[in-house]
Amino acid sequence: KKKVLVIGGVAGGATFASQLRILDDEAEIIVFEKDGTMSFANCGLPYYLGGVVKKEEQLIAATPESFSQNKNIEVRVRHEIIKIDRPAKKIIVQDHIKNLRYEETYDQLILSPGATPVVPEIEGLAHARCYTLRTFEDMLRIDQQIKENNFSSVCIVGGGFIGLEMAENFKARGLEVFLLERSSHVMKIMDNDMGEMIEKEIVNQGVHVYTDTTIKQIENNGRTMHLSNRATIHTDFLLLAVGVKPNTALAEQSNLEIGITGGIKVNSFMQTSDPDVYAVGDAIETIDFITHAPKRVPLAWVTHREAYIAARHITEQPLPFKGVLGTSICKVFDLTVSMLGHSEQSLTEQGIPFKTITHYSRQHAGYYPGSEKLTIKVHFSEEDGKIYGVQIIGKDGVDKRMDILSTAIKAGLSVTDLQEIEVAYAPPFSAPKDPINMIGYKAYPIVKNK
Ligand code: FAD
Repeated sequence: KKKVLVIGGVAGGATFASQLRILDDEAEIIVFEKDGTMSFANCGLPYYLGGVVKKEEQLIAATPESFSQNKNIEVRVRHEIIKIDRPAKKIIVQDHIKNLRYEETYDQLILSPGATPVVPEIEGLAHARCYTLRTFEDMLRIDQQIKENNFSSVCIVGGGFIGLEMAENFKARGLEVFLLERSSHVMKIMDNDMGEMIEKEIVNQGVHVYTDTTIKQIENNGRTMHLSNRATIHTDFLLLAVGVKPNTALAEQSNLEIGITGGIKVNSFMQTSDPDVYAVGDAIETIDFITHAPKRVPLAWVTHREAYIAARHITEQPLPFKGVLGTSICKVFDLTVSMLGHSEQSLTEQGIPFKTITHYSRQHAGYYPGSEKLTIKVHFSEEDGKIYGVQIIGKDGVDKRMDILSTAIKAGLSVTDLQEIEVAYAPPFSAPKDPINMIGYKAYPIVKNK
């Protein structure tokens, strides 16, 4: 029986271990996690901080005890891998509980060490009460600090997914929220006009938003922020949400190849440059489904899929990874914001010519109660109708349209094929010509080779 070691016990690591157990009931599987909590729902952290999820235990999907009992998988928490010795096929482990160091050999090794929040260099940051949100412990720390210090205001740096989710959740907690974004609009992976819709919503909800703005200097033990737009704001603490960098240190130390985007390079079976070492999740570089270019997509669906692909390959039932669209969704107060693929800026930067249809409609029949605005924007090729990117904003029915479009793209459908999607229609749900169909009808005259 083979011995498989896993570095990282949360999304990618725990999923991989479970999948491997389903496919191989004999393998010896040991998962190492440097923090104290395994298998927690990263994506749920903002909602605990906002009081939507009431109990911290609700976010924990599994424990070392449940993994041992139900799956015969050993999980060692507070055990950090500090070195990989590939020639000897062993890892060096630091046991932070007993404070000792030991070696463990492997037949195959899986890396799922995740990513670390980026901390920008800002004068005075070292003295500020400043947090990032990545781990379960981060979440508990922020919660405890808010309670203990009666914090009543926060400056969120970064208007991406985590920044926006936290703006909503801090507001729900009664804090005054300032949000700074370096780009010209929040959610900078989306187009300008879509970002502006999101900004309007958060401003309406009482968030103080500053775009095109960074912090120049922090004073007064982190309570006074001098901004690049010459304004000065005062808040009790800072939350940095300016992105993540892949945890590649172990891979680099052991001379595994790193890709051009900075993630660990893997093939379509998740093998690194060493065939006995696999890597999955936020730490790796993967492939763009649309352009086939290298890409890093730190998202949960991608991580779970990669973990399954790695488990299949190790058990000699290979299934190649087909690439990612980066399909993502976010609740921003009363709006749902979703996107996949490439924005105008990303297509322009890559020199890919494109056409765009923007369709403004309602998610279901206008006469039926609860009808709300829905904006769908689709970028595509004029030559053959290949869909390059989709962005959708609305209050209801956003996820359904995005999931249809994501499915359509992966099935090889073009923008004109969207006419043919036969939707389930009754007034509370859709329209006889769904907004998705309308994109197809509008694009039809534009596409040259249908
Ligand atoms: P992680 O889940 O972070 O796991 C990596 C683990 O490896 C960590 O626990 C770390 O302690 C451990 N580790 C690292 N180095 C070592 C070492 N040397 N030894 C032992 N252990 C080590 N994605 C979505 O798709 N939708 C969402 O709504 C969403 N919301 C999110 C909200 C927040 C606040 C955050 C932080 C992330 C969110 N994500 C979301 C992203 C998603 O959580 C990640 O894509 C996913 O967790 C990546 O899995 P991973 O296994 O690569 O990394």
